[in-house]
This record gives sequence, C-alpha cells and structure tokens, in this order.
Amino acid sequence: MEQTFAIIKPDAFAAGNSGKILVRIYEEGFKVRGLKKLFLSKAEAEGFYQVHHGKPFFDELTDFMSSGPCLVMVLEAAAGIKKWRDLMGATNPADAADGTLRRQYGSSVGENATHGSDAPETAEFEISYFFSGLELL
Ligand code: UDP
Ligand code: MG
Repeated sequence: MEQTFAIIKPDAFAAGNSGKILVRIYEEGFKVRGLKKLFLSKAEAEGFYQVHHGKPFFDELTDFMSSGPCLVMVLEAAAGIKKWRDLMGATNPADAADGTLRRQYGSSVGENATHGSDAPETAEFEISYFFSGLELL
C-alpha cells in the first residue's frame, strides 16, 4: 500500500463538488487515512508550492489556493500515487481524459479541481506539510 497527498481545491470545494469527488475516491478503492478542511493563507500556499516558486503561474496559483476553503487528504491504495494521478487526469482539464476528475470538475489549467503528489518524495513532503502523525492514526 502506498500513501499519496490530495487536495480538493477551492474551485471544486466552492462549487459543492467535494461529496461527489469523495464518493469517486471510495468507489475507486482508496482508503481515506486523513481528511480536513483548511482555508490556506497566501504564505501557507506558497510554502506548499515552493517547488513552483519563480514560475510564471506561481502568484496566480497561490492566490487561487488561498481564495477559499479546500479539503486536504491522505489517500492510500496499491500504487496510490499513480492511481490518484490517473484518476485526476491531465493538469489542463481540456487535455484530461473522459471520466477523470479534472475533466469532469476542472474549468481551466489553473482551476483544475484537484491536486495530487507526483512522486514518493513529494508525497512524503506534502503529507507532512499538512498532517501530524497523530492525525493519521
Ligand atoms: N498551473 C497553472 N498554470 C500552468 C501550470 C500549472 O496554473 O501552466 C497550476 C495548476 O493548478 C496545477 C498547479 O499549478 O495543478 C501545479 O502545477 P503542476 O505542473 O505541478 O501540475 P499538477 O501536478 O497539479 O498536474
Ligand atoms: Mg504537480
């Protein structure tokens, strides 16, 4: 079993799509090991996305991620990192395959409904950025 870090981003949360996305997460066979609602500050969003610091979309991305509440989650499944990336689909919802979450719930390359870790090292950093060990018991 492998854990990954996921976010239901502010666009999807505000649109009332969190429940439908969670149903899909369970239907696809993930265990939800951690889950909480947060309203990130700009600084918290910048810290989370530090890997993208300096990129042209960094300011817009961190404004968006601090624009409203989101749900942060730790998901677990066999090959969970890739399984969750596959369920999300491509970064740009216009390029995402039918049946993926970003295709269904995303509206633009920036406001694309969900986040997922891209590798074991990033999953470890991202999980520990938002969750303590006690919250994942
Ligand atoms: N993003 C954006 N413009 C871009 C690329 C990315 O606004 O040209 C945003 C988008 O919300 C994306 C996030 O920045 O989900 C992180 O980008 P990354 O390339 O890591 O994509 P992801 O791993 O989320 O698919
Ligand atoms: Mg990424």
